[in-house]
Amino acid sequence: MILFSDPKCLQYQAVGHPERPTRVEKTVSWLKEANPSWSWGSIESAPIEALLRAHPETHLERLQEPRMFDADTAYFEDIFDISRLGTGGALAAMSAALEGNKAFSLMRPPGHHAESEKAMGFCYLNHIAIAVFEALASGIDRVAVWDFDAHHGNGTEAILEGVERTLYVSVHQHPCYPGTGLRSRGNVVNFPVPPGTPSETHMGALEDSWSETLAFKPSLILVSAGFDAYEADPLTEMRLGIEDYRSLGAWIERSNIPAAAILEGGYSDDLPLLVDAFLKGWSGP
Ligand SMILES: [Zn+2]
Repeated sequence: MILFSDPKCLQYQAVGHPERPTRVEKTVSWLKEANPSWSWGSIESAPIEALLRAHPETHLERLQEPRMFDADTAYFEDIFDISRLGTGGALAAMSAALEGNKAFSLMRPPGHHAESEKAMGFCYLNHIAIAVFEALASGIDRVAVWDFDAHHGNGTEAILEGVERTLYVSVHQHPCYPGTGLRSRGNVVNFPVPPGTPSETHMGALEDSWSETLAFKPSLILVSAGFDAYEADPLTEMRLGIEDYRSLGAWIERSNIPAAAILEGGYSDDLPLLVDAFLKGWSGP
């Protein structure tokens, strides 16, 4: 297991906002303590050319203008550079996966709500979509994104819809923010689940979504790993337990397909335990 993180991602914060630096800070220290054999790689900022595969130049400029994006998504000085570093984490994990590693990028801000021309839902750049395009550009044949965050990845769906050799699969609470992800079409497969769904039923939907992902016969799987479908998450009403995340990791392990995951959401104080369970499941018995 190789992990990617950089303390620069801790350097912004809106007081009282659930997407806060301790999410990553505490998870990094927990994982280092609990899994001393895992290695940690360094991250470089994603090249502008890579960003431009998913976002127009006007969006990159907008991220550097000191105005709020929406009520949940503030402007911060350096947010463009910090987001670029987050994308760099996704690219580093993707490359490590293609070299035969199990790889996880533990960075913030998250990315899956960011649309091509719109920062929203705590997200500024769509790291995973950018990583998909980078993989395709480097000659990878088929790339699937599996998104188990409790929220629908509206940005990833909008950016990847209709893009050949890609698949977007999501399981998410509905109704919930951002309100999208009700229908499947083309290369987009959505599994909305109602609030309060028992964990067994939710895991059934996740199993179905994983089968869809494997049926695509991807050469690479990129995982939008959000941990906010957890029963104690303050932002959603889902019921997954810690051991469920271990199972999700174990499914990836058993697939024997190159895979990289990146942190999306997850706002409970138990986030370190959830990520640890997921990665332990993935690292194998
Ligand atoms: Zn989420």
